[in-house]
Parts: sequence; C-alpha cells; structure tokens
Amino acid sequence: MQDVTVIGGSFAGLTAALQLGRASRTVSVIDAGAPRNRTSPAAHGVPGWDGTAPADILDGFGKDASAYSTVEFLSDTVVGVSVEQDGFVVSLATHAPLKTRRVLLAHGVVDTLPDLPGIAEVWGKTLLHCPYCHGFEVRNRPLAVLANHAMSGHQAQLLHADWSSDVTVLTGTQSSFDPSDFARDGFKMETRPVIGLSQAGDGISVSFEGGSSTEFAAVFTAPLVSLSGTPAEMLRCATTEGPLGPFLQVGPMGQTSVPGVFAAGDCARPAHNVTSAIGDGAMAGIGCHQSLVFPGMIQPIEAAA
Ligand SMILES: Cc1cc2nc3c(=O)[nH]c(=O)nc-3n(C[C@H](O)[C@H](O)[C@H](O)COP(=O)(O)OP(=O)(O)OC[C@H]3O[C@@H](n4cnc5c(N)ncnc54)[C@H](O)[C@@H]3O)c2cc1C
Repeated sequence: MQDVTVIGGSFAGLTAALQLGRASRTVSVIDAGAPRNRTSPAAHGVPGWDGTAPADILDGFGKDASAYSTVEFLSDTVVGVSVEQDGFVVSLATHAPLKTRRVLLAHGVVDTLPDLPGIAEVWGKTLLHCPYCHGFEVRNRPLAVLANHAMSGHQAQLLHADWSSDVTVLTGTQSSFDPSDFARDGFKMETRPVIGLSQAGDGISVSFEGGSSTEFAAVFTAPLVSLSGTPAEMLRCATTEGPLGPFLQVGPMGQTSVPGVFAAGDCARPAHNVTSAIGDGAMAGIGCHQSLVFPGMIQPIEAAA
C-alpha cells in the first residue's frame, strides 16, 4: 500500500511529489510522457525559466523529486482507478496495479483543436493559444486568430490591444463565434473557409478554399479542453464548466469531491499556465500529506448541485 499515487508527472505532479517526498511518504508518480506544452520550443512567463524548453524544465523537476528515495517513477498510463475500502486501486497499462491510500490527479486536460490538415505540425510553434505565453515573440507582426470559439473574440481583442495592430480574424471555420461583434472594432475579417495550415519559414501559412494562401507570424486559437477518458472522469470527481471546458472542483488544498482524491494543475483550474500548475501542485501535495496525518481534517468539497 503506497501512501500516494500521483497521476501525471509534469509541472503539477512533480511539484506535489517533491512535497510528499520531503515528508518521507511513499509516492508513485505515473506519467504517460505527454506534457501539454511538449510541442513548444520554449515555455515563457515562468520565473527563473523564461524561454526554456519545457522538457529541460521538467528534467530539473524530475531530478529534484527523484532525490527522495521514497518517490518512485513509472512511465505508464493509468487505465483505471477504483475506490477500495482503505484507499484505491490504480490500474496501469503495462505495470501491475498499485494500491494506494491517496490519489493525486495531475494529468492535465485533453485538448481538442480545429480539425484542419497540418495542424499537428504547427501546434505550439506558430499556431499558439496564449498571448501571455507566446505573444511577445511575435509582437508587432501580422497575426491572425482562428475563430473557432466564443473566446476567439477575447483573444483577438487582447492581441490587438498590446501585441499587434495587425490582427486578422479568420471566421471561415465552424464556430460559435459571432463575427458581427468584431467587424466594427477595426479587425481585418477573413471569411473564406480555411482548409489547411503549414509552417512557412518562421511564420505560418493559412490556405483558403479556392487555392490562395496568406502568411502570418502566428495564428492564435483557443483549444477546447475536456477531461474525457481521464482518471478524474473514472473517479467521477465533480467538475465546473469553464470558458473552454470542464475543470475539477477543488478546495484550497486541492481536495476534490471524492474523499482521498486531490487534484492540481490544468485539470483543476479554468485558466492554465506552468506557474499556476506548480503552485497548485505544491498546495495539493501538502494537502494530501496533511490528510494522511490528520484523517478527516480535509473534508472533500461538496459537489455542486
Ligand atoms: C502549446 C502550448 C504551449 C504552452 N506554453 C506555455 C508557456 O509558454 N508558458 C506557460 O506558463 N504555460 C504554457 N502552456 C500551458 C502549460 O503547458 C500547462 O499549464 C501546464 O503544462 C500544466 O501542467 P500540468 O502538470 O497540470 O499538466 P501537463 O503538463 O499537461 O501534464 C500532464 C501529464 O500527465 C500525463 N498523463 C495524462 N493522462 C495520464 C494517465 N492516464 N496516466 C498517466 N499519465 C497521464 C501526461 O502524459 C502529462 O505528462 C502551454 C500550453 C500549450 C497547449
């Protein structure tokens, strides 16, 4: 019986594991090896690591946590979690099941991008999701917003306010976005259907139906997120709907609606970045530990009706 199984060994999960390891608790960190920003050449806005490759940041996190002998790491995927009398059984794709007193969910979210040819090639490089993470590097250059969501207008306004006066809104995708709101605000509107995206030098080329294409320094889009198929869904943890999809309801120390289950990082907040995931991971690790020392002190949050 492990003390804690951390599901997801990225920014949130490794930070939680560090706290638990420093309390000499037995911890298994299970990680499928796909942190959310893995396609980005550099993470920005992370104090101390601004502009560092995500894999290099995580390498340091992993080294720190692995210095504690009670923390073990398994490269694997959690395929099931069940509640048992004294804890949980965590089923893995390739290793034997683990018995654990507590579960800490740090598995992030599932991104759903517009279904366009070429999107995997450009995602995280010149197809971007967040001005704060990647806007500075493309400031004052022609930018576009692929309007796939009601939040696309918010994204266009942000970019136009402080990153570039040259913002084109691409409305030729299926969307709940209402272009009439933005026509009056001075954005360039491009209504031709977008049929593909590709890397073009240090920028991106957008192909339109009819055969023409236009280049931009970057295109921004808002991926929809879900928790579909994740351990959080397997455990039926309560969620709240955010602007881009659901996130787990958690208390101030990361406790979810399921007793003994804690959560941190993107899966447990509506807005996402590395620094927040690190902070959440520290607090959920501490909360999880204190729930082992003082059973009953940290009550599960009440699920919203
Ligand atoms: C393209 C892109 C670029 C970004 N750039 C920045 C940036 O520059 N600066 C910034 O601050 N933020 C950036 N972000 C946001 C940042 O990546 C996330 O906020 C951060 O990665 C969240 O960390 P996390 O630990 O919660 O989850 P993640 O980093 O998503 O890690 C979750 C981990 O859990 C694992 N996992 C998932 N399911 C299972 C399972 N069933 N079993 C085992 N393991 C599992 C995954 O493989 C993964 O390793 C970016 C996001 C994207 C999409």
